[in-house]
Amino acid sequence: MSDDAVNLTIGPICLQICPDAIATFTKHRQRCFFSRESGGQLFARVRGNNWEIVAATGPKTRDSRSRFGFRPHRPSEQEEIFEYHRLGYDYVGDWHTHPQDVPHPSPDDLESIRNLVRESIHHLPGFLLMIVGRDRFPKGLWCSFHSLDGSFVSGTVEPAAAKRR
Ligand SMILES: [Zn+2]
Repeated sequence: MSDDAVNLTIGPICLQICPDAIATFTKHRQRCFFSRESGGQLFARVRGNNWEIVAATGPKTRDSRSRFGFRPHRPSEQEEIFEYHRLGYDYVGDWHTHPQDVPHPSPDDLESIRNLVRESIHHLPGFLLMIVGRDRFPKGLWCSFHSLDGSFVSGTVEPAAAKRR
C-alpha cells in the first residue's frame, strides 16, 4: 500500500522517490511520543533536472539521537557518499524524522541545510531536505529544495501519477 513510488515537482526538479526509500522513511517514522529522531542521507540518479531517489540511508550507530534532535556522524556520512558515488549516484540531501503529524522544518533544520548547500563541493543547483512526520504520505512528508542562493521551495506531491503506471 505505502510502497508505491512517489512523484514530486519541486522548484526546477522532477523528483521520483523509489519504493525502497519510502520503505526506509516508513520504518523510522516516530510512532510514539518518546521515539527518537532518526535520519540519514539521500542518494539519486541525476539526469539534468530529473532526480530519482534510489536510496535513503538509515541512521548509523555513531549518530547521536534524541526525541528532538538528530546529529549525524559526519565521517561515516562521507564514507557513504564515496560508496554511492562509485555506483554512479549523487548525494542530493538529507532526511530525518520529526515527532509531528505534518512535519515542518525547524529554524535549525533550515540553517543547517543552507550551510550544507553552500559549503559542500558539488555540481548540483541545490539540495533536498525531507522530513518524515507521523501522518501517512504525502501529508506526512515534508520535501523542500534549497538553492545555492539560500532560497527554498517546498514540493507538491502527485500520488496519483505514481499509481497510474
Ligand atoms: Zn528537524
